[in-house]
Amino acid sequence: MVLSANSRRPIFFYKEYLVQRFEAPVYKVSIDAGMTCPNRDGSLGVGGCSYCSNPSFSKKAYDGEIDLQIKQSLQRYPVGTKFIAYLQSYSNTYASVPHLREIYTKVLNFPGMVGLNIGTRPDCLQDDVLSLLNEFSDKFEVMLEIGLESFSDDTLRRVNRGHTVADFYNAVERVKKLSPKVKLATHLMIGFPWEEESFWVESGHLATQLPIDMLKLHNLIVVNKTALGEEYKRQAFPILSKENYMRIAADFLAQLSPQISIGRCFAYTTAEHLIAPAWVAEARSFHGELEQFMRKNQLYQGKFSILPT
Ligand code: SF4
Repeated sequence: MVLSANSRRPIFFYKEYLVQRFEAPVYKVSIDAGMTCPNRDGSLGVGGCSYCSNPSFSKKAYDGEIDLQIKQSLQRYPVGTKFIAYLQSYSNTYASVPHLREIYTKVLNFPGMVGLNIGTRPDCLQDDVLSLLNEFSDKFEVMLEIGLESFSDDTLRRVNRGHTVADFYNAVERVKKLSPKVKLATHLMIGFPWEEESFWVESGHLATQLPIDMLKLHNLIVVNKTALGEEYKRQAFPILSKENYMRIAADFLAQLSPQISIGRCFAYTTAEHLIAPAWVAEARSFHGELEQFMRKNQLYQGKFSILPT
């Protein structure tokens, strides 16, 4: 897939990739599998990343009933619909291999399931877990989403990620080696107040050099019950306006390979969780507005990308 100035859309969304891959729309089913995270359970840290509040982005909460969660989601669709299960909350490879096998198998046994998207961290990918994922990738589309958030070690330290950029690169290399059919995605965040616009745009180029298939770009949002939220309440720091975030996201995408699909480029939460910026609660149509902005400014994903040789 290569986008050009005349392509239908300026952004190559993941949804579009799924239609190309499965020749039909594929719907996401979010599942909370009751996992935890080493940056929260004490094995690495207890506070978690400074911006993290899983309830602020995950509609589902673990209730011990994965089957029920899936049944409730699937019943809204006609028989024959295709689905991707999204294990989003916490680190969904952070458990024993038998336990992970049980969960992944249970999820994929539902009719219409064509794959798994698994959110995790670079330090939760032991060799035996990668072998397990490789097994599932023989029959299913398996996408591993490894959070990075920033290409700056200083930022990763300041937000208490508990890993470095080198740890991320190392994890990517191991996934490619030990589970070659597993697809890879990462998440990046734009808006940490100590980072600069040129660095965010350059991140599009750095992401292009990675062997990833999908990327999620997030605007920084400050939410309740987080260390960042407490910091903001003590002393508000500058947060990107909608216009500035849109402009920077468009420039980032112009640097990004047109072959990397976009899972999303906007983070939303409800007023109940949101501290700042206020525009986020009113911006559910952000993707459409971003595409309009890009068209108007003759930008498209990959316009300035330099692909790895
Ligand atoms: S953002 Fe992810 S890695 Fe960080 S504390 Fe939350 S669940 Fe853990």
